[in-house]
Amino acid sequence: MLRELKEKGLKMTPQRLAIIEALTTMRDLHPSAGAVYREAKKIRKGLSLSTTYATLNQLSAHGIIKTLEFDTAENRYEANIGEHVNLICKGCGKIVDYEVSAPADLGEVGKRTGFAVSDTRLEYYGYCKECREKGMGEG
Ligand SMILES: [Zn+2]
Repeated sequence: MLRELKEKGLKMTPQRLAIIEALTTMRDLHPSAGAVYREAKKIRKGLSLSTTYATLNQLSAHGIIKTLEFDTAENRYEANIGEHVNLICKGCGKIVDYEVSAPADLGEVGKRTGFAVSDTRLEYYGYCKECREKGMGEG
């Protein structure tokens, strides 16, 4: 992410670095802004929650990270911007990355339909192993 930050001409402030470090540490967790804030604050004591929100929005706007918006839950942030499916648990809210071996060929989509894809968001909803072991998602 640091390379992207440089490429997009964003200054590496201590706040941004702390947030990026937190996002990297929690890469697999798809953290909420609050969780990023708590982690980044360990690195950068003076960090505020509003700065965290602003920075996450900025990184997202520049395509360095991805914001996952949900109707019924708070936004989550992910550092993996490569093509993959998010497996989202309806029981505990956990989000797991699932690498797909053959994502749609976006060039082919354009050729066949004239549709220029700017963004992709692949989500499969269901119940994770732990929640299923507790009996959720049966029947
Ligand atoms: Zn679960």
